[in-house]
Amino acid sequence: MQPEKLKHFREILLEQLREHTENIRTEKATALEASDDGVKDSVDLSLMDVNQEIAFRLGERESQMVADTDQALLRIEEGSYGKCGRCGRDIDERRLEAVPTARYDANCQTIIERALGEETPSL
Ligand SMILES: [Zn+2]
Repeated sequence: MQPEKLKHFREILLEQLREHTENIRTEKATALEASDDGVKDSVDLSLMDVNQEIAFRLGERESQMVADTDQALLRIEEGSYGKCGRCGRDIDERRLEAVPTARYDANCQTIIERALGEETPSL
């Protein structure tokens, strides 16, 4: 990939990293606030649990996003960014614009998702 292109995606990823790190911080603060308020009144306890559960799940998703972004930035450093992790072909730049953390090209992504889907039997 061209150095200017790499720089372009690096900037997108760094911006994304900043954004999600900020989200995690905000959500943790919100969860802590919720637990402070709830202790006084037992009626609010169940609501507090729900709030914390939501905050936890959001945090988990954000943490995953940060991890994915970190990995993508690492691939830029290593020089493997933009190459499919499965077949080694170049990932379409339009795909990278849409999903800068993409690890596989569209073709391999479909194959991998199909394989994962088959592992989980639907009852
Ligand atoms: Zn591939």
